[in-house]
Amino acid sequence: EIVELTPFCQQLFEQIQLKPGQNLSLEGKAVSGKAYLDKKLLHSILINLLSNAAKYSPEDSQIRLIVTAEAQSLHFQVADRGIGIPSEALEQIFEAFYRGKNVGAVPGAGLGLAVARTCADLHGGYLTVQSSSCRGTCLTAVLPRIE
Ligand code: ATP
Ligand code: MG
Repeated sequence: EIVELTPFCQQLFEQIQLKPGQNLSLEGKAVSGKAYLDKKLLHSILINLLSNAAKYSPEDSQIRLIVTAEAQSLHFQVADRGIGIPSEALEQIFEAFYRGKNVGAVPGAGLGLAVARTCADLHGGYLTVQSSSCRGTCLTAVLPRIE
């Protein structure tokens, strides 16, 4: 269906449990527009990426959702300043039940990214990750742009 991206993302933000002082920002040129997307799939993808960003980041840190468009694709980037993902774990994070060794006592089943990846796949897209232990994580959902 046609999704107005700004109100959609703002509604999503209200559903994320933040730590004290954490701040969510909505950025990117494409966020003021509309897109033809499946709301339920996009919701599942972004809820999982944003709740991970909050869970694996400290208090008083910023989390950004940046929406940009290319000729054939829409990019939803979720960038945090959290604990990061060690390079040797980057290939495993999308597997069901995988949990990082550096997450400490943070609870979870290890399913969020497996669900997000399946939803991106059903939507004709994919997820990519960039991360380093000191600078935080950026997970991007790339979905086809349907006119
Ligand atoms: P669940 O989402 O099922 O509650 P989970 O968060 O552990 O549990 P995933 O969302 O699938 O599971 O993430 C898998 C692993 O990837 C996490 O355990 C963590 O090690 C790592 N990870 C995911 N997102 C981030 C992030 N933003 N920053 C740091 N590590 C992350
Ligand atoms: Mg998760």
